[in-house]
Amino acid sequence: MNPIVGNYVCLAMKTQPKTSLVLFRNDLRIHDNEALLEASKADRMIPVYVFDPRKFSATEYGFPRVGPHRIRFLLETVRNLRKNLRARNSDLVIRTGHPEAIVPELAREYGVTEVFLHAEATSEERVDEDALETALVSLSPPDSGASAGIRLKKFWGSTLYHPDDLPLDPDQVPDVFTDFRKKVEKGSRVRETIAMPNTLPPCPVDDPGELPALETLRALPDHFLWDERQHDLSHKPVLRFKGGEDAALERVRGYIWDGDHLKRYKETRNGLLGADYSSKFSPWLATGALSPRLIHEQVRRYEKERVKNSSTYWMIFELIWRDYFKFVFIKHGNALFKMDGIRTSPHPVDWRYDQHLAGAWQRGETGIPFADANMRELLLTGFMSNRGRQNAASFFSWNLRQEWRIGAAWFETLLLDYDPCSNWGNWAYNSGVGNDPRQRHFNILGQADRYDQNGDYIRHWIPALHNAPASHIHQPHSLSAEDQRRCAVQIGKDYPRPIIDLEASYERLKS
Ligand SMILES: Cc1cc2nc3c(=O)[nH]c(=O)nc-3n(C[C@H](O)[C@H](O)[C@H](O)COP(=O)(O)OP(=O)(O)OC[C@H]3O[C@@H](n4cnc5c(N)ncnc54)[C@H](O)[C@@H]3O)c2cc1C
Repeated sequence: MNPIVGNYVCLAMKTQPKTSLVLFRNDLRIHDNEALLEASKADRMIPVYVFDPRKFSATEYGFPRVGPHRIRFLLETVRNLRKNLRARNSDLVIRTGHPEAIVPELAREYGVTEVFLHAEATSEERVDEDALETALVSLSPPDSGASAGIRLKKFWGSTLYHPDDLPLDPDQVPDVFTDFRKKVEKGSRVRETIAMPNTLPPCPVDDPGELPALETLRALPDHFLWDERQHDLSHKPVLRFKGGEDAALERVRGYIWDGDHLKRYKETRNGLLGADYSSKFSPWLATGALSPRLIHEQVRRYEKERVKNSSTYWMIFELIWRDYFKFVFIKHGNALFKMDGIRTSPHPVDWRYDQHLAGAWQRGETGIPFADANMRELLLTGFMSNRGRQNAASFFSWNLRQEWRIGAAWFETLLLDYDPCSNWGNWAYNSGVGNDPRQRHFNILGQADRYDQNGDYIRHWIPALHNAPASHIHQPHSLSAEDQRRCAVQIGKDYPRPIIDLEASYERLKS
C-alpha cells in the first residue's frame, strides 16, 4: 500500500464530517422540532424545503389544489423559516421538483449519512415518505458498506398527544369523538415542548436556491375574482394572516397574553366578525409554524398566572378535536376521501354535481346571505369561522345536494389553514358520512338569526345589502319592491334571488 495514500485515507476518514439532512414539510418551525433537533447533532446539516409541482396541480373539478392565499402564506412561511435558520448559523436549501429525486441528489453530493423528517397522517404524504425511503435505500453513505443505504429517520410532531402516548392502538381510535377525548384526557399526557439549540451546524450547500415566484405556482381561474386589489380589505376588521413562525408566536402572545382573550374564548368562539373571537391559530398549526404543544404550555401557564376556567379548558378541547381527525385518518386511511366516507348505510341524499349550483356557492351568489357572506369571506381572505364552515358545508351537501367532496376540495384550495385531516374529516362529519352517529344538518336561517341577529356580518361581506333591515336581511328576496327601493337594492340584479327553495329542501330532508 502506498503509505502516503494510506495516510491520506486515514486522515480523511478521521476528519470526514458527519452530515445530516432535514426535510421540512408541514413542520415549518424551529421551536419544538424533534426532526431538526436530531439532525442538528451532526457536524453539518442541510435543511431542505421542496416545492413539489404535484401539490400545486388542478383538481378534477377544474380549480387549483392550492389557491393564491395559501401560496402566499406558504411562501411567507418558508421565507421566515430560512431567516430564522440563518440567524442560527444555518440556512434553508430551497428547491422545486420531486423530493424523492432532490433529497438523494443532495445526499450524494454532500455525503449525507442520515435524513430526518416528520411523518404525516395522510396517505399522500406517506406515499411521499415511502418513495423517499426507497430512493435513499439504494444510496450508500460514504465510508460504509456498499449496501447499507441512507437511513430515513421519522419523527412525529404535529399533534398535542404523541401517538406513542395514546392509551389505545391507533386502529382502535373510537369513531365517536367524546369517547376518544375522555380516553386521552384520562390515560395520556401532553409532552413538554422540545428545547432547541440557539446555534445549528453549518449548512455546506453553496447554492441555497430561491423561493419560486408566486405567479409560477398560481393557476388562477379567471371567473373567481380573488385579487385583493379589486376588493379593498383595508377597512375590514379581519386578521391579516402572515405566514411563518415569527407571526405565529406573535399571534400566540397577542391573543393569549396582550389581548387577554383566552379567558373568554368559550363565549366568543362562535363569533363571525373581527380578529379575536377565536384564536386564529389554525393557519400556523396547519403549516407547522406553530406547535400545538407550545399552545398547551402557554394555556397551562395562563391558567397559573391569570385564570383557569371553562374557556382555557375549551382551547385544549378544540386542539383534541384536531388530534382526533389526525388519528382517525391513521385508522381509516383513505376512507374519508371517498364519497361514502366511513358510513355503512346508504346516505339519504342522492348527491349530484351541478356546476351552476356549485359555482354559485363557491362565488357566494346563492341568494342565501348567510351562506354567501361566509363564502365571500373565504374567497377574499382565505379564512372562515368555524360556525361559518359548518353552515356553508351543511348548506352545500344537504340543501344544495351537491357532492360534499367538491365542497371539501374548494375549501382545500382556499383555506389558509387547510389541513387534510381537519378539512376532509370535518366535511365528512358535517355531511353525514364521517364521525358523527347523528344525521345532522343545520337550519341555515335559524343559525343566521342566532349568530348574526342584526345582520352585521352580512352587511360586512355583501355591500349590496348594506341598508337592508335586520328583519329581512337573511331573506332579502322577501323585501317588497318599495322596501327594496328604500334600501337601494334590487334583488335579482344587485343581489341574486335564492337559487333553491330552502323551505322545500328542508321538507325533503324530513321525508
Ligand atoms: C367544513 C369544515 C372544514 C374545516 N377545515 C379545516 C381545515 O382545513 N383546517 C383546520 O385547521 N380546521 C378546519 N376546520 C375546523 C375549524 O373550523 C378551524 O380549525 C377553526 O375555525 C380555526 O379557527 P381558530 O384557529 O380561530 O379556531 P379556535 O376556535 O381558536 O380553535 C383552536 C384550534 O383548535 C383546532 N380546532 C378547532 N375546531 C376544530 C375542529 N372542528 N376540527 C379540528 N380542529 C379544530 C384548530 O387547530 C384551531 O386552531 C374545519 C371545520 C369545518 C366545519
